[in-house]
Amino acid sequence: MATISIHPSVDNGIRPAAKDFAGGTLVCKCTHNTVEVTIKSQSAHNHACGCTKCWKPKGALFSVVAVVPRDKLGVSRNGAKLAIIDPAATIQRHACQGCGVHLYGRIENTRHPFYGLDFIHTELSPQSGWSAPEFAAFVSSIIEAGADPAQMGAVRARLRSLGLEPYDCLSPALMDYIATHLAKAAGVLKG
Ligand SMILES: [Zn+2]
Ligand SMILES: [Zn+2]
Repeated sequence: MATISIHPSVDNGIRPAAKDFAGGTLVCKCTHNTVEVTIKSQSAHNHACGCTKCWKPKGALFSVVAVVPRDKLGVSRNGAKLAIIDPAATIQRHACQGCGVHLYGRIENTRHPFYGLDFIHTELSPQSGWSAPEFAAFVSSIIEAGADPAQMGAVRARLRSLGLEPYDCLSPALMDYIATHLAKAAGVLKG
């Protein structure tokens, strides 16, 4: 059986982050007048995502998505080509209308646990050294995008062999982060 392709940036092994990496640019896939985003920070919580909303390259089972502080991200070229895919979605994905690539996703609800973080795809960057993917989220959701349910065991085995522990929501650390935020907002947890 052929090796399952998860995503082109991890299929041949995961590249570690570069020490002291402090950011770079993301560039869309248009052949001219590319949209460019500049990020003045290393990324965090990079992971493979199986949801149907994240942008992924053609043929990939998963997207690879990370976060950066929103105040460290700015559109530096051709921002007029960007449009929000779904203004009602929790994460507003700013996509290039020319090539369809999502340059960044932003949460505008200030009460959301992840408010203040923008979602990015570091594979769009000509620089290397971004934080490495650490786990796989929303793995079962790839079925919603057309993956064969009978293949899920093999998909999870492949993710584990790459060092990407598969989860069907987010990782335990991020689920705890969300629950802690909600408990504090509700007054259940103090501090
Ligand atoms: Zn484009
Ligand atoms: Zn996703």
